[in-house]
Amino acid sequence: MNVLVINAGSSSLKYQLINVETHTLMAKGICERVGSAEAFHKHGLDDNEVVIDAKMADHDDAMALVLESLVSGQDAAIASLSEIDAVGHRIVQGGKYFDRSVLIDDDVIAKIDELAELAPLHNGAALMGIHACMKHMPGIPMVAVFDTSFFTTLPPKAYMYPLPYELYEKYAIRKYGAHGTSHRYISERAAVVLDEPLEDLKLITLHLGNGCSASAIDHGVAVDTSMGLTPLDGLMMGTRCGAIDPAIVPFVMEHENLTAEEMNNLMNKQSGLLGISGVSNDLRSVRTASEEGNERAMLAYDMFSNSVKKYIGQYIAVMGGVDAIVLTAGVGENCDKMRRMIFSGLQPLGIVLDEEKNRHRGFERIISTDDSAVQIIIIPTNEEYMIARDTYEIVHDQMVGIQP
Ligand code: AMP
Repeated sequence: MNVLVINAGSSSLKYQLINVETHTLMAKGICERVGSAEAFHKHGLDDNEVVIDAKMADHDDAMALVLESLVSGQDAAIASLSEIDAVGHRIVQGGKYFDRSVLIDDDVIAKIDELAELAPLHNGAALMGIHACMKHMPGIPMVAVFDTSFFTTLPPKAYMYPLPYELYEKYAIRKYGAHGTSHRYISERAAVVLDEPLEDLKLITLHLGNGCSASAIDHGVAVDTSMGLTPLDGLMMGTRCGAIDPAIVPFVMEHENLTAEEMNNLMNKQSGLLGISGVSNDLRSVRTASEEGNERAMLAYDMFSNSVKKYIGQYIAVMGGVDAIVLTAGVGENCDKMRRMIFSGLQPLGIVLDEEKNRHRGFERIISTDDSAVQIIIIPTNEEYMIARDTYEIVHDQMVGIQP
């Protein structure tokens, strides 16, 4: 079964065509700056990638280009659109409605729309992607895979905020988490690498990319996570501040004369590694600057690693121990220096990084010492594969008449 995975952002549309039975990535690409004069389309696998300037007024135009590129040229991934069996959509916010992936129908679309208040940029874009697919591939089965559904197992003591209870009742203000598909994937893969059932393990999963989040997964069940009502909470990130004293918000708004939207922008786009270093949101540039003696870049590095270290401590306390710590995404997978800083000083907790293994590059691997009580594992994330797999399972079950 060939599944087209769509990840629609506010001005982008990422896609992969995956054959789920053979685990083959058949095509991938991204339309960027959709709706602007600088719109462009990258399409192709690795060395065969081409970048084309293309006019895209909206996601509908972008989807038409994507489908055209899948069937045209001598490297066409498929001969005709009828070879696409189903579409899987990444949806950021599933709120209280979706504790698992679902087949998309009118009711699901209405609920995704209703939840857009909690994720205006993301859910709105996903709906544009869904409508564009309905237009260009009428009748094709589509599945919604939610970033939040992995965290619907959080107990109330983890997802409630200590605010007046009425705010929860009136606006559904609570922790929903994000990056759930990534945390689900790396926890499953970690169990395979450790050759133990996921249900027997206490895991801390760390998704450290431009966006960062940590989760506590106790015997296969997510019990806490660092992102909150929105993906701004928790760890320090590339441009996001993560958790700060909430009283800072009205203080800065008053003193800098900022609107709520400007304050939101400051915390989401001008903070984190970028805000502290003044150099970049990209850890590679911050690393270079810190190695050249830039003190603010050094501070940003220190703060980032300290922020992750504190979540490791929290989640060990929440679960009463940990068997393995799993890292993924750009920083988690690639930055040996950051990993060294995160795990330095954690030896008394039985967490011992192997300096030599930490330096190696490669695919899934254990980087703790052989006698470390807690394993440290790197798992390159693959959210698209999870979306394709969920889509396959739901559409396949529907075809053979199995009710969920
Ligand atoms: P992602 O959001 O998963 O694409 O991750 C992006 C982040 O990973 C950026 O901050 C990059 O600087 C960082 N990153 C990627 N490769 C490396 C590397 N080799 N060393 C340090 N940071 C890296």
